[in-house]
Formats: sequence, C-alpha cells, structure tokens
Amino acid sequence: MRKHIFFFLFSFLVGELATAQSADILKIRKYEEQNADNIIKEFVQFLSIPNLAKDTVNIQKNAVFIMGMMKKIGIQNVQLLNAATAGVPPVVYGEVKSSPAKQTLVFYAHYDGQPVNPAQWAKGLDPFTPKLFSAAINNSGSNISFPIDGKYNPEWRIYARGASDDKAGVAAILNAYDAIIKTGMQPSFNIKFFFEGEEEAGSPHLNEILEKYKSLLQSDLFIICDGPAHQTGKKQIVFGVRGDAHLDLTIYASKRPLHSGHYGNWSPNPAMMMAKLLASMKDDKGKVTVKGFYDDVIPLSPSEKKALQEVPSVDKQMKTELGISAEEMPGVSLGEAINMPSLNINGMQSGNVGMLASNQIPTFATAVIDLRLVLGNDWKRQQQKVIAHIKDQGYYVTDHEPTEEERKKYGKIIKVIAAEDGYNAQRTSMDLPILKKLIEAVKTTTKDQVVLQPTSGGSLPLFLFGKYLKANTISVPIANHDNNQHAENENIRLQNLFGGIETMASLMMMK
Ligand SMILES: [Zn+2]
Repeated sequence: MRKHIFFFLFSFLVGELATAQSADILKIRKYEEQNADNIIKEFVQFLSIPNLAKDTVNIQKNAVFIMGMMKKIGIQNVQLLNAATAGVPPVVYGEVKSSPAKQTLVFYAHYDGQPVNPAQWAKGLDPFTPKLFSAAINNSGSNISFPIDGKYNPEWRIYARGASDDKAGVAAILNAYDAIIKTGMQPSFNIKFFFEGEEEAGSPHLNEILEKYKSLLQSDLFIICDGPAHQTGKKQIVFGVRGDAHLDLTIYASKRPLHSGHYGNWSPNPAMMMAKLLASMKDDKGKVTVKGFYDDVIPLSPSEKKALQEVPSVDKQMKTELGISAEEMPGVSLGEAINMPSLNINGMQSGNVGMLASNQIPTFATAVIDLRLVLGNDWKRQQQKVIAHIKDQGYYVTDHEPTEEERKKYGKIIKVIAAEDGYNAQRTSMDLPILKKLIEAVKTTTKDQVVLQPTSGGSLPLFLFGKYLKANTISVPIANHDNNQHAENENIRLQNLFGGIETMASLMMMK
C-alpha cells in the first residue's frame, strides 16, 4: 500500500485550469501530459552519461547526445563551439530563425556536473544510474519503477548527478521548443541555444569561446536557466549575481613548534594572532570594519527596492531548517544581506585538535577569506582594502615565506595571497523593456507570485557575456531549492522539470 495520495499529472493539470495561466501555456501543458513518457525517457538516457568536465570521453558523449536531441526537433546550424585551447569541453550550439522576429534570445544551460563520490550517495543510489523516487529521500520517499502507463506524479523525483544542475536546464529548453512547434505555435523571437560543458569547473575557457564566436552569439538577451527556484517553491527571476574574490592568509611565529609550558606567555602564538586579526574585521553587529568596505556599492534602484520588499521572507523557515536562532547582523534579513558585500572566513587552521592535540605553540596559522561583491565593487580593490586593514593592524605583509632578515626586522608577519581568479558582480536593470516582457511571460505560467530577485547570493561569471558580447543576461532558474546540487543525492522534482518547460516556452513566445 502506498501511503501517498496519487495526484497523477493529468488530474494535477486539470486542477490548475481555472487559474491565471495563458491558453498557450495550457497547450504546452497538455503536450507535456501526453508526452511525459518520452520526455522522461530521453532525460534518463541523458542523465546516464557521466558529465564531469575533466572526463573528456564522456563529455564528448554528452555533447553528441545533445546535438542528437537538437537535430531531432529541427534546430538548425547545430555545431560544437570549441575554445582556442585544445581539448576543452565544447559548447553545443544551435539556432532557429522565426519570421518576422527581429530580436534574438540565447538560452543558456550547462551539461557538465560537479565531481561525485558515489560512496556518499544514499543506499541504492548511483550518480549515473537515474532512479525514480516517490518523494524526497529525506521525506520518506522510496524507490519506485518507472511507470508503464506513462503517468507521472509531479511530486516524484529523479535522483542522479545533473538531474537539476543543470541537465534539467538543457532538457527544459529543448522540450519547450519542441512543444511549441508540435502544438502548432511559433516562437516570437529568433532563438539560439548555448549549452556549456565546463561551468562546474569554473568556466575557465568561456572567455575564449565568447571571443571566438562573438558574431555568431549576438543577441538581445542571454537567458540563463541554471540554479534553484525560490525556497517557497515559487518561480523566480534573478537579475544579477554577486562577484567573488579570495585572500589566503598565513601568519608566522617561531620557526619551530614550542612547548606551551616553557614558552607560553613569551613566544607569540600565531593562532591567537590570526583570531584577533580576523575578529578585527567585523564588529559585534556583523558589520565589516575594513575601511571603505561598503563605499563603492551602487544602491538598488527604486524598482529593485520594491522587488526586494516583495520577495517572500524565508528567514524563519531557513532558521528552523538550519538550526540557527539569530542572524549575524541583527535584524538584517537574508534578502538584504545578500545585497551587501560580505567578508566570510572559509576556513582557518593552526596546530592540532582532537586526538592529535598537544601542548604546543604552533609555528603558523592560516585562513582563507571569501569576499562576495555587489554591483559597484571592484574585486581587486576589495582585496586591497582588506590588505590595507591588515597593515593597519601592525602587520608586515609579504607574498612569500619570510626570510631571516624579515623575521629579525618585523614582529608581526603575514603572507597574503590575493587570488587571481576573482570577478565582479553583475546586475541587469529591471526596467529594460525586454525584461518587462519577460516578467509578464513567466507570470502567464503560474497562479502564484513570481519572485523578482535583484541578485542571487551566489556568483557566476555573467560579466563575461557583457564583456565579450555586450549582452544583457537574466537568470530564470527552475530546479527545486532542495535539489542537493553539487552534493550527493542530487535530484529534480518532476513538477519543476515540467514547470520549467512551461517557463522556457513562455519566454520563447513572449509578446
Ligand atoms: Zn549550475
């Protein structure tokens, strides 16, 4: 006996008919209902191909599989876009021209995934053997076989690497186009398809590809289909991302570890020095005390402020989910917090603890600091502000292990490595006419509020699209927020996949 009440897709769909969705979207929904089995079967095949960016052989298989999906549904000029560097996972590209469309949309998703450790996945799961579950595993979901009658409960989930991040994006985009054509409708834009193969590796060659194919990739808007929907389950549109920069710190003390009894109180302790230095960077209210830290921030526009106020609060829900009772900045909501630059300690280390603990004064202490940036911050300038703060605390800052000379000369020595892989934030204006159309289009797919987020808390190198193509970008994510992306037990809730197809279709047909 199944404990769950089965709302099969069909009844679920009929139940939604009385709501605000447009006639076009209802056609797409009916198509999904009739073709759910084919859509899911193809998706399962796709998920069965391992997709780590470094796995050249399988990455190629993924690319070939996507090209097949595209050619099958009549997408033209299907090809692989290769970087100038050899052996890099290619972008899978295709396009369709719609007359009399003048404007062009590029739909972006990525087909590579994060590394996997199969041992960490729940019993019976394998990252590249997709399995169907009756609900989330941690919500008493159980493994069920794929239905022979082609009827799928929208609450069911598929578990596999890439199920939500981001093969769901590829599947939603391609099925949306297919559904539009098969239901006798037409896209209202020219469409380009752009599927990246090394996003999870940090997009190290995206710049080369954008530069090389600049003219092919011209458009009016890049639509990024990656990441989760809002924590409330509502659809969301995300207008920007934060930038990111790192600093590696090492504080040096005595050249060899010392007996804490014989030398404690006398020889400086690097762990204590690091703790004090880091503590000096924030006040008791969680505000960063580094001089000028918030100075460059470009304030939110009136529309962005209004949107932020309308974002449903998830603070209470997340506090319960995470087992915390107070925010770092008292009274500052999660939404407000991610619209400010941040300084976070990613990790710190000195000496040993637990079984390895000993009575010693360690020789050095290390810490890694992560700076998230908002619009206006320059990532290199932000790093320099922190370095200036460290100097203000009396430190001699170097970029190498201290020499004997330096050790003699300076009491407080720190090595600071300002990581070279940072980048700035990006935020697209909510007031662009094409984005007003886009917001209206997503609204036609749901009876719920569509959440408008001025920025995501996370970072993506979206500035590259602006830099090389002068393109505007917007993120329209579709996955469930509890999808375990980047971790073990990654999954997609079927309603998010089907709802995602509807969202992508609404954008291709936006008025
Ligand atoms: Zn992703």
